[in-house]
Amino acid sequence: MNLGTAIKCCPLCGGRIVVSNLYQYSLDYKMRKDGKIGKRHKNVDSGSMDVSLAACENYKTCDARWEAEDFFVEPDGTFIDYKYSEGV
Ligand SMILES: [Zn+2]
Repeated sequence: MNLGTAIKCCPLCGGRIVVSNLYQYSLDYKMRKDGKIGKRHKNVDSGSMDVSLAACENYKTCDARWEAEDFFVEPDGTFIDYKYSEGV
């Protein structure tokens, strides 16, 4: 079992890691009184998708990427890596 390793920088290049929490929202178009869908819309925030991704800040030159199951962020902000630290 891979318990993961707390890391403080990108394991590939030493850059900073950026975690992205994904949110979803929709553009809602309401039908007008004449029965047509109007052009005006409303942004509706549908809240968190509970999906997080992470990547190295040097994304143009560095391939370090984490999918949701590849990392974990502790409540105190510690970044736990399950992907690159395996077997280390
Ligand atoms: Zn990197």
